Order: sequence, then C-alpha cells, then structure tokens
Amino acid sequence: MYGHPNAAELTYYGLYALQHRGQESAGIVSAREESSAFRIRRGMGLVGQVFSEQDLKDLTGTRAIGHVRYSTTGSSTLKNAQPITVETLRGQIAIAHNGNLVNAGRLRAELEADGSIFQTTTDSEVILHLISRPNPAIGGGALAQALSRVHGAYSLVLMGERELIGARDPFGFRPLVIGKLDDGFIFSSETCALDLIGAEFVREVEPGEVVVADEEGLRSFKPHNEPPREALCVFEFVYFARPDSQLGGRNVSHARIRMGRELARMHPVDADIVVPVPDSGTYAALGYSEQSGIPLDQAFVRNHYIGRTFIQPSQLIRDFNVRVKLNLIRSAVQGKRVVVVDDSIVRGTTARARVTNLREAGAREVHIRVSCPPHRFSCHYGIDFPDPKDLLANRMTRQEITKYLGADSLGYLDVDGMVKACKLPASKFCLACFTGDYPVPFAPEDDKGVLERRRDQAASLVPEEEARQRFLL
Ligand code: AMP
Repeated sequence: MYGHPNAAELTYYGLYALQHRGQESAGIVSAREESSAFRIRRGMGLVGQVFSEQDLKDLTGTRAIGHVRYSTTGSSTLKNAQPITVETLRGQIAIAHNGNLVNAGRLRAELEADGSIFQTTTDSEVILHLISRPNPAIGGGALAQALSRVHGAYSLVLMGERELIGARDPFGFRPLVIGKLDDGFIFSSETCALDLIGAEFVREVEPGEVVVADEEGLRSFKPHNEPPREALCVFEFVYFARPDSQLGGRNVSHARIRMGRELARMHPVDADIVVPVPDSGTYAALGYSEQSGIPLDQAFVRNHYIGRTFIQPSQLIRDFNVRVKLNLIRSAVQGKRVVVVDDSIVRGTTARARVTNLREAGAREVHIRVSCPPHRFSCHYGIDFPDPKDLLANRMTRQEITKYLGADSLGYLDVDGMVKACKLPASKFCLACFTGDYPVPFAPEDDKGVLERRRDQAASLVPEEEARQRFLL
C-alpha cells in the first residue's frame, strides 16, 4: 500500500484475504517519511496469530508491504519469513516475493564468492543483493539490472525510501494486480484483497512490467529486452487462487464451474449424487452437477479451523490433517452411487482417504472425477509439488490408480478442457506440471532446495572447528 495513513492496517487486512497463498509465516514492513527507519513485524503462523493490536499501532507510516509465506525454496523458519529488509547504499529496501527463481542457487554462489553475506536461505534475497550492487558500466538502473539476471517466477513488491514498486517476471507466472483506495495505490497478488479493503481494481501488472508508485503517482516501464511470453500458472485457476478473485479478467469460481461442466461432458456416469471434496472441489462439483443433472450433496463437512493440509511440510502431519479436515454425513451417501469431485490428485492421499470414508459410510459406488489433468511434472515456478517419482500419475497406470484409490471409476479433465474452461488462450498459460513443457529452462542442479542442500553439504564436509577457523581467521 502506498500513500495512505492506514497503510499497515490495510496491508494487514489484505494479508487476511491472501492467507490461502501461504500459512507458514506472515510479515509487514511499514515506513513513514524518507529516511525514517522501517518498522518491521514478522512471525511464524497465520496473519491472525502474528500481529497483535500493539504491533499494528507500531507499524506506523503511509507505505507498507506485507507477505504470507508458502515455502518452495528455503526452510520454514522465522529467518526466512518475509518481507526481507536490508540497508544498502541506496537506503533501506524491503522485498516480498511470490514465485520461485530457477537460477537463485547459481547467482547466490557467485555473490557469495564475491563476498556477499546472506541472512536467509530464500531465493528472494538474491534479488536484494543484485539490486544493492548494480554494475555502473551497464546502466539502466539497479532494479532493471537485477531483474535482467534473475530467471523464473516472481511477482514482487518492493519498498524503498520513497517509493513502492510492483514487478512481474516476463512470463507472468504468478498474478499481481494494482488497486486504488482514496489517494493511495495497492499492489496485491489477488483482487480478493482489494475487495476486502474496499479498494478499486485498476488493472493487472503486465508480465515483464515494473510499476512504480511514488509522489508523482503511478508510472511503469518494461526493463526486459525480450518481448514477454505470457505463462500464467494454470493451477492458480484450478486450485491456488481464491474463487472470488479475477485472473486475466476471468473470475476464478466461474472457471472452476466450467471445468466441472467439461468434466461431466468428458466423463459422464450414472449416479445418484455429486459430492464435492470441500473446499477445493466445491465449484467443479457444482459444474458437474449442473451439466449432468445429478443433484449436488455437500456430504463432506469441513472443519474450517485447520490450515490447508499441503502447506504443512511433514508427511506425518499431512496424513493426520487428511483425517481431521473432513467428516462425512453417512445418511447422505448410504446405498448411493456417488460421484466425488476434487480439483486435483497429487500424491493420492486425499482421494484415497475420501473413498475409504465413502465406502465405510455405505456408498454403493464411488466414481472419482478430477477437474484437472494428472500431475506428472514438478513445478519450478512456485507451487510445491513433490518429486515427480512421488506423483501418483507417475507411479501407476490409470487402472492401477483407480484400484489403489478403491474407486469404481476415475476420470480426469484433459488439458484442452481445463484451458477452455478458463476462457483464455492456451498460449497464455504455463501448463508445465501437466505437460512437462517448461517456459523457462532450469538446470536440475539449480532447482529448488539447492540453497538448503549446499548449506547441508558444507556443514557435513567441514568439521565445526575447522569451519570456524576457515571462515573467521
Ligand atoms: P494429494 O492428497 O497429495 O493427492 O493432494 C491432493 C489434494 O491436495 C487436492 O485436494 C488438492 O486440492 C490439494 N493440493 C493442491 N495443491 C497441492 C500441492 N501443491 N501439494 C499437495 N496437495 C495439493
């Protein structure tokens, strides 16, 4: 938020609306006039847990940026919580990053070899280091230079001594929109945050665009030489974004309903009820029901007081959450032929547990319908999918999956149906997790987790005492 007397408070409410995008940590950095020290509050957990009333009072100023973290690179610890702040020759800078860089490991190695000291193991910090040491021989501004060196996915908000900046990578993997409230401007990952604070939606930040909000108002430039090739993550439409948000001018819930309709056309079945897996399958199930004429029954009841299961990194907790999250209304499904609709099958844990619940409750037939294609490839741009060898669709044939899940039949939406439902051309999407066609190449040795692995390797290779001598003397 730029240019509003309640900048931090509005950022706080905005983060509430974006909580689904990350639940590990939350943070806000605010600033008053030029050269007064940035105010910072970061903590582990949900927005509602991290900030006290006093914190919000302390976060004074007319500019603020905030972040909720969902980690793909760097461990889930307080030190990796964002926004990250640094003091540089250009003054204070704070950054909040959504997405995953594919060359962060290599850039970091270069920077460290040159003497840079990193505070975190996130890829985002690399951007700050690059900004703080532009090459005067090249010109073009510190930020433009930094962005020309990082590859992969980034939607960024940056706060400097005078300005607030929103920037999107040339592919536009992750969303970023501009809003306006009174005389202030807002950058947000999704439009649902603008709705909450009563701000007006201005437009999306375009792929490859850098938008600056300062005393002069808004101005924009495109620092990249290559023309952008759009590659918005299609999984934002399928699962990640909130249903009340607009992406690429399309409402997400409506796209999900159309996915359900396509699914019913592709994989019809004789059944008595359509049951969504809440909340992820809710809209697709509605579409399936509308198209097929089979009545919708919300037979699964969700406990809303636990987080999104996939964000907890440990497998043990994931399995527990699958059970604690949903309960079934037995009488609704007993003796019935059930179509159960979910948005995606990743490892298969959720779908398998749901079929078991339905069988135990006496469902006569269970037909699984999934509103996206089988996941077969990793995401290198900011969605945390497991290693491809752990993806169910890579471990088994369609028949084996059906048997493993304990279902009577299984049907996935195909790529064409999914894209058609979004009402945007296929050329505008990144479909890599389904097709293996990666818009930005990546070196496997430079992939996510590389920063952690390098650190672990260094620790295991060098005995502690030796390391101390080597680095400090
Ligand atoms: P799984 O149990 O691993 O098959 O997870 C599938 C369920 O988790 C679906 O209901 C999805 O909505 C949800 N999900 C979405 N994204 C992810 C992700 N990145 N990792 C794991 N699960 C996800």
